[in-house]
Amino acid sequence: MFRQTPALVLREVRYNEADRILTLLTKTEGLITAKARGALRKSSRIAAPTQQLVYSDMTLFGNKGKWLINEAAVIEPFIGLREDFAAFSLGSYFAQCIESLAVEDQPDEELLQLGLNSLYALSNGLYRHAHIKAAFELRLMCLAGYAPELHSCAVCGREPAEPFLSLKNGTVMCRACGSSSSGKNVPLCKESLAAMRHVCTAPAKKIMAFKISDGALDRLAYASEEFLLARTERRFQSLNYYKKINGFN
Ligand SMILES: [Zn+2]
Repeated sequence: MFRQTPALVLREVRYNEADRILTLLTKTEGLITAKARGALRKSSRIAAPTQQLVYSDMTLFGNKGKWLINEAAVIEPFIGLREDFAAFSLGSYFAQCIESLAVEDQPDEELLQLGLNSLYALSNGLYRHAHIKAAFELRLMCLAGYAPELHSCAVCGREPAEPFLSLKNGTVMCRACGSSSSGKNVPLCKESLAAMRHVCTAPAKKIMAFKISDGALDRLAYASEEFLLARTERRFQSLNYYKKINGFN
């Protein structure tokens, strides 16, 4: 069975002498694993299109749930990521998040679009890393069914003056209303809350189109990351690595 589909390479692992095992988010088959035979040979025509964080048009041969890459051609190489180590490592974190939330063999165009748009913004330096990262994380949570309730305070129903995000409940609260709630609450502000609302409700191509001051971006970035980590209940090696090379921790 042959399938031709655009595919984003989320992960590549070296296998045998010159093969790659790829984790792909494909347009038509969703998340799959595929073998790229001989892809590590210099002469291989599929060497470039099967690299991590490259978007390629692939012809796949499937047999009993196993996929083999027959042909591949680069659609978007995200060159900027290959010239910037920090951007590449953040892109790898995006890929790991997508892999952990994508459902196998189930196409998800919105998820693929979010991945591509985020990598494009990173590769072309359209916004600061923290801005792109927060928008990606929050929107990913929305796509995964964990959209936070940001409309009004979950306790009193009013617009929160000093807003806090409850990581446990995924709701926003006033400082006073949240003081007795259990679990970790992270502080927001008017501006960071407005940005969160924008990311969660804007059309897919516009999620990063907001202006934000430095202090509010710090709060947005912290809240988005903590929310993703709380909801997914896991740690991401690629995130730790990104922070390490950026001098966090
Ligand atoms: Zn309240």
